[in-house]
Amino acid sequence: MATERSLLLIADIGGYTNYMSTHRMSLAHAEVNTSRLLERVIDAAPEFDLIEIEGDAAFLSRPAGRMSDDAAVSSTLAVATAMHRAFHIERQYVAKNLCPCKGCAAADNLKLKFVAHIGDVATQTIRQQRKLVGIDVILVHRMLKNAVEIPEYVLLSEELHRLRGDALPVAGQEVLQEVEGIGPTRAYFVDVADLPNSVPPLAAPSVLARLGGTLSVAGAGMPYMLGLRRRRVAG
Ligand SMILES: [Zn+2]
Repeated sequence: MATERSLLLIADIGGYTNYMSTHRMSLAHAEVNTSRLLERVIDAAPEFDLIEIEGDAAFLSRPAGRMSDDAAVSSTLAVATAMHRAFHIERQYVAKNLCPCKGCAAADNLKLKFVAHIGDVATQTIRQQRKLVGIDVILVHRMLKNAVEIPEYVLLSEELHRLRGDALPVAGQEVLQEVEGIGPTRAYFVDVADLPNSVPPLAAPSVLARLGGTLSVAGAGMPYMLGLRRRRVAG
């Protein structure tokens, strides 16, 4: 199977907790809000291909075979910054809608974090659905389970961090991780807030916009409330 050197990036929303699963409307609205946020996040990364939506996370990739070393790092950080910004703009709209349910109220505290790696991946296409396979795909997913203690960060694998040159604006902090099936692995994280242009702009949506947001959430939540669809239980 042919492989291609690729940047692998996962953007993962954090902050929704399991207690919401006790309330059907909260759960429905959390689901709607998550998809709405992920759509904005993905839209902010046009140069990356969306491989898969995985619960509250989006898995993306970009061919990197012809990319210079520091371009691999700088494009990862630039796209993470753009996605983070898009996420928080949309999150503010979600949080300011007038729905009192926990799924909407909790949106105020949602966070976005990233893990990124570079490696050789093979592509499988089954019924027009593109899938990436290989040890590097496994590694980037296992990087989500890490010891980083800040809520919003970009965690670079050692392979990607090694290419940084001058592309990393702040020093990455090292974390060691025992990756299941792979062994001890080193990675480096930077706080998203330390990246240039990362401050989420403060918007004050009008009452009309807030009302519109509330109605669209209520409408989109309908199939869930009627019991026609079920939210996947988040792991
Ligand atoms: Zn709600």
